[in-house]
Amino acid sequence: MAAGPGSAAGGASHVTSPPGEPSLPLKVADLQTGARSCKGLSVSLDSYPPWGFPLECCRNEWGPCDSISGARVLLTGASTGIGEQMAYHYSRFGAEIVLTARRGTLLQKVMEKCLQLGAKKVFYIQADMSSPQAPEEVVHFALQKLGGLDHLVLNHIGGTPFRMWDGDVEHTRWLMQVNFLSYVALASAALPILAESKGSLIVVSSLTGKISTPFTTSYSATKFALDGFFSSLRHELAMQKQDVCITLCILGLIDTEMALEKTRDKVYMSAYPVAEAALTIIKGGATRAREVFYPWWLELLCCLRDWFPDQRDVVIQSFYNYTSV
Ligand code: NAP
Repeated sequence: MAAGPGSAAGGASHVTSPPGEPSLPLKVADLQTGARSCKGLSVSLDSYPPWGFPLECCRNEWGPCDSISGARVLLTGASTGIGEQMAYHYSRFGAEIVLTARRGTLLQKVMEKCLQLGAKKVFYIQADMSSPQAPEEVVHFALQKLGGLDHLVLNHIGGTPFRMWDGDVEHTRWLMQVNFLSYVALASAALPILAESKGSLIVVSSLTGKISTPFTTSYSATKFALDGFFSSLRHELAMQKQDVCITLCILGLIDTEMALEKTRDKVYMSAYPVAEAALTIIKGGATRAREVFYPWWLELLCCLRDWFPDQRDVVIQSFYNYTSV
């Protein structure tokens, strides 16, 4: 490990698991190291959209890089997928980070890599967001470790099947807690702290939170709910002249392990690279964008959404393979 002087610690427990699952202790660990610059970012530029921001700039001179260097970041769903990649980008920028998810072994590995990549400080806390107490505990921990917060990145999601609706209302209720209510609770606990720092609240959503698609009933509902809640909150913050920005991130299919596994043989569409998706989200938050779309052309789709609804639905359905579900 290339990390500088550091120490690790673990302890404490009070977050519980969903009914029927073994109890998950809330565990914490932390490491610290010296500051690094944001140089040395290496992400493939090959498939980048024509008028997206150049990733090349992030290697050393990208403007928001300065604003992220030393920024205090709380990142949820950081053990795998897009969250893991965001953790690495924030680290290259020299941020101070608190990571959270349920699996401590994965978080430990991500934390170690973050230190190698240049994070100023990294801490993690294990928490299951299906527990109503978890969000407040996590924000409290981040505040304790970082002394404040500049970016809150809400990214985690609970597992959900990619298939036809089977009438499982209990699953929808549980998913609402993990994907929506916990976001609301994390945001409300962090808002006073973000107001102090004039910080950013970054909400990771999906195209299925703007345009309904098959096989995603409950997931789609949770993502539409995020848009409703956080877009309304954005108005209210502006009306109260609170300088906290809310960035809603609309993502298409991204090539995370989980997404590829779930959609295999079920969709006719290609997945976009996870590292670029992660960087687009970070850039959106750092530049205080209202909404971020990745890939970029999703913004056009969303603009056209309600123009020809019948034709739209036929086109959408043609991208899904029903027989293999
Ligand atoms: P992922 O790889 O499945 O990662 C999900 C993260 O959430 C993991 O760190 C997981 O870690 C954590 N998590 C799962 N259940 C949790 C729980 N009950 N409490 C706390 N944390 C929990 O997902 P992803 O594909 O990176 O998605 C990240 C974000 O991008 C999500 O908001 C998703 O909706 C959005 N998005 C993804 C795609 C895509 O194609 N991948 C497309 C559109 C939008 P543990 O299991 O260790 O807890």
